[in-house]
Amino acid sequence: ERVSRKHIKCRADIDMLTVPLLRIYESLIPPKEEKEKQMQLLTSLEKLVVNEWPHAHLCLFGSCANSFGVSNSDVDVCLVLRDADIDKSEILLKLAEILQSANFQNVQALTRARVPIIKLKDPVTGVSCDICINNVLAVVNTKLLRDYAQIDVRLPQLAFIVKHWAKSRGVNETYQGTLSSYAYVLMCIHFLQHRDPPILPCLQEAKIVTYQQIVDNIECAYFDQVEKLKTFGSDNKESVARLVWGFFHYWAYCHDYANTVVSVRTKNTVSKRSKDWTRRIGKDRHLICIEDPFETSHDLGRVVDKYSIKVLREEFERAATILQAYPNPCEKLFEPF
Ligand code: ATP
Ligand code: MG
Repeated sequence: ERVSRKHIKCRADIDMLTVPLLRIYESLIPPKEEKEKQMQLLTSLEKLVVNEWPHAHLCLFGSCANSFGVSNSDVDVCLVLRDADIDKSEILLKLAEILQSANFQNVQALTRARVPIIKLKDPVTGVSCDICINNVLAVVNTKLLRDYAQIDVRLPQLAFIVKHWAKSRGVNETYQGTLSSYAYVLMCIHFLQHRDPPILPCLQEAKIVTYQQIVDNIECAYFDQVEKLKTFGSDNKESVARLVWGFFHYWAYCHDYANTVVSVRTKNTVSKRSKDWTRRIGKDRHLICIEDPFETSHDLGRVVDKYSIKVLREEFERAATILQAYPNPCEKLFEPF
């Protein structure tokens, strides 16, 4: 039954939904003051850090720096220490002590997490923040996402709507086996790279490399002069509404979950077999495969299990059906689960 809907045509009046969808997008954009508060917090954190580790610095990453941040998101901060040979837990515990004495609220050091972090809340700005150590790949993938967002505004528009949908429907919780915001943005980029004509290029496949860094033995290289690509997608005239419909339709009825991996790194089809992601290995089931653009051995879908894959696919189908058939789908689409 899933396969038979593959060739359904989009409703004739789909473009009418662009106005209400863009209204939602605009309501999610953080106001200017929020950026200022985040910078204020970063400055006060940096003072404390440099006081203890003179050669350290802080970088923003995640949604406050990748241009996919909705209003009131947490701030993700990376503490960069020159010395690679450090005990992260020890540093985090020391930093937690310093932050506590500086009167930050709810300071918690999660030293046993896959990515060890400190969580805190700034009483001055009210902003919540996670701090990790030497997670330079995350800083680099943040830049890649930010660069993609500059090329065609339909990417941030689609991604904000998808993130808002995922949060409203409870499918943006990695600890419950659904997908991270980072994974959803990669799914949006991949989708726009494969429109006909394409709306986004594949920056890692460009002939000219203008940005290059080796991080944790991984070469991160791509074309980052995106101001030269502003017209890349202009031959494609699809409206945001059509793309939102197309996104959910793709994930509901067209994606080959059994055989293919979503990758923004290349325009070629990447098979699960080529990555040996065809069977369960340990806890990783590879039921939906989304390749990290740089750490290509990392499947962002590995958190998905046999229960949550069902939840996800039913949510994609629900969204596709609502967009296809409801006269005023916007309210229903984002209805809390
Ligand atoms: P939100 O607005 O929901 O906080 P976000 O963009 O900050 O969205 P998160 O999923 O919180 O997204 O991830 C923060 C950043 O951490 C991402 O932008 C990415 O750089 C990095 N990241 C997150 N998950 C992974 C992962 N599984 N592998 C590699 N990097 C990741
Ligand atoms: Mg975040």
